[in-house]
Amino acid sequence: MRLVHINQVEFENFKSFGGNVKIPLEEGFTVVTGPNGSGKSNILDGILFCLGLANSRGMRAERLPDLINNSKVKEGKSSETSVSVKFNIQDWSPREEFQPLELEEEEIALNKGQKEWIVSRKLRLMPGGSYASTYTSDGKQCTLQQVQRILRDISVDPEGSNVVMQGDVTRIVSMNNKERRNLIDELAGVALFDTRIEQTNAKLNDVFEKQERCEILENELQSSKNKLD
Ligand code: ATP
Ligand code: MG
Repeated sequence: MRLVHINQVEFENFKSFGGNVKIPLEEGFTVVTGPNGSGKSNILDGILFCLGLANSRGMRAERLPDLINNSKVKEGKSSETSVSVKFNIQDWSPREEFQPLELEEEEIALNKGQKEWIVSRKLRLMPGGSYASTYTSDGKQCTLQQVQRILRDISVDPEGSNVVMQGDVTRIVSMNNKERRNLIDELAGVALFDTRIEQTNAKLNDVFEKQERCEILENELQSSKNKLD
């Protein structure tokens, strides 16, 4: 199995983490404990923000500027926050069959033998209230699409089950057998084939319908020909 894991998350003025805070995540299982409101869930919000999963996975913020540490948002001044997520990818290797034929010069991609990948997102709030965010991959500016492509390459599926949110466990436990089986199929990659089978069957039905229409037409033409004969 090709496993990647998050090594470290670094915050700059993010929510309750004023200033610079680095949170190391050891290999294996990490538990974060602390009193209510101490910022445990903010760590997860930071990861969702950085990886661009904010909307799909229920990050807790009405609007992105709410993520900037309160004390850093000053009237009439621009302020910003950033989160970096460092992945350990040393056990990962590219899937040969998905290698692009040739890399464009400015292509954002992981190199063979690369051991770490750092993705960062910065959010800047302008004095007028407008805001903009930028992504970097290993320090190179890039787009969300490029980040998402690399995430897919290392099998981190934003819509999948790499991120388990509050409530997800209860949802899985209370699923019926069929729903749980679907989830397992999805994780195992079997669901993809189900979709393809469905698509192929739909195409096959189309062809059968066309064939039927052609047969009717053929019969009509045949009977006309008979009359002419
Ligand atoms: P619980 O155990 O209740 O789940 P928690 O440890 O998960 O708590 P969080 O929800 O991560 O706590 O932290 C919430 C804290 O973050 C609150 O104290 C809140 O005031 C603070 N907070 C949220 N947004 C900001 C912000 N923009 N600036 C500063 N502090 C913020
Ligand atoms: Mg919490």
